[in-house]
Amino acid sequence: MEGSGEAAAEQSVASGNDITPTRNPNVAVKVDIVVIGAGQAGLSSAYHLKKLGIAPQTGFLVLDHAAQAGGAWQYRWPTLTLSTVNRIHDLPGMRFSDAVDTSAGQVQASVAVPEYFAAYEKAFALPIYRPVNVKVVCDRGERLRIETDRVNFAARGLINATGTWETPYIPDYPGAARFKGRQLHTRDYRTAAEFAGQRVVIVGGGISALQLLDEISHVATTIWVTRRPPEFREGPFNDEAGHAAVALVEERVRRGEPPTSVVSVTGLPVTPAIIAMRERGVLKRLPMFAEITEQGVRWADGSEQQADVILWCTGFRSALDHLAPLQLREAPGGGIKMTGRLATQVAKDPRIHLVGYGPSASTIGANRAGAAAARELAPFLGLLR
Ligand SMILES: Cc1cc2nc3c(=O)[nH]c(=O)nc-3n(C[C@H](O)[C@H](O)[C@H](O)COP(=O)(O)OP(=O)(O)OC[C@H]3O[C@@H](n4cnc5c(N)ncnc54)[C@H](O)[C@@H]3O)c2cc1C
Repeated sequence: MEGSGEAAAEQSVASGNDITPTRNPNVAVKVDIVVIGAGQAGLSSAYHLKKLGIAPQTGFLVLDHAAQAGGAWQYRWPTLTLSTVNRIHDLPGMRFSDAVDTSAGQVQASVAVPEYFAAYEKAFALPIYRPVNVKVVCDRGERLRIETDRVNFAARGLINATGTWETPYIPDYPGAARFKGRQLHTRDYRTAAEFAGQRVVIVGGGISALQLLDEISHVATTIWVTRRPPEFREGPFNDEAGHAAVALVEERVRRGEPPTSVVSVTGLPVTPAIIAMRERGVLKRLPMFAEITEQGVRWADGSEQQADVILWCTGFRSALDHLAPLQLREAPGGGIKMTGRLATQVAKDPRIHLVGYGPSASTIGANRAGAAAARELAPFLGLLR
């Protein structure tokens, strides 16, 4: 499969920030480890690979299909600020506050985090190639073939850090197609002003649902529905509680079950914003409706609510479609059985690590998972001298 075309492509990888597309689909650039995704999890992995002495470009490289630094943070809605996010943990080796001036009050996360990531990539000279879209990964025996819209790669190991942002999840409800109003997912939300004066059904019991309910309820009539009664967590959330919550998700993926979101096991923190919503009477939760009508939603008891908008704050799934040919799942639609110190290693194929997946789907989890994946994969492939 390799030949002069490969040499030319290899040169282009080693020589600059552009990956020249090759016309020959049989050509693949050889590299030890490919990291897919340059969000928190991919950057942490790259930092640790470099720290272990793996050579950038020939030993490892990072591919990301976004045009610029920032992972999924660059797409977050404008009102999500550094003071309304849960908490963004510093990447290893550089403090957020050393890269970004946060003194200006309400700093948009979609601006500040990309600024931080860009400074980070530069400071550690990480070999990140963008925009490069990974279309599919296949098993070719000794190597994994990583097909992109630019060059193809033949890697000995893979760290997948593609996050969840690109696979929004909307549950199926009868009648969804006949609804005459607007339906959108958290991912498509920009500003509450779009809904001024309208009747908005907000579906979901997570942190994002509550934040958007808060904003929209100031300008529109809101109807909040959740599958289960939301669990508010009154007390402080200490490290112990955090570890226990993550451990539950870790146990699931070690058993090969699909991960649940970490928030689903941590409960909702009672912030000043939540207290204010309680006082405004906004937190009146209804159970899930049974079907969607042309004009709104209908519950099993026949009661109806007219609505102009249904906003699905129903979460995300891991973006793993490009790994489908590897058949990593235990069963179609099922989970991927994970192993390794922090459950980042795929049990069926130990050359592959998933970071930012399941128990590591948080900024702190992504940091730790990146370190664990690098430290396990490099010796596994015999890359440490
Ligand atoms: C609204 C919202 C708020 C959140 N707030 C917090 C918070 O306050 N604190 C916290 O700890 N966590 C928070 N999280 C979770 C948090 O976003 C993540 O845990 C973390 O930032 C995700 O990092 P990541 O590297 O796994 O993924 P991402 O940041 O999504 O990065 C994935 C990268 O992979 C790239 N990519 C994807 N597919 C491909 C492909 N096929 N080819 C090439 N590149 C690809 C993308 O371009 C992207 O750059 C929040 C999540 C959401 C949705």
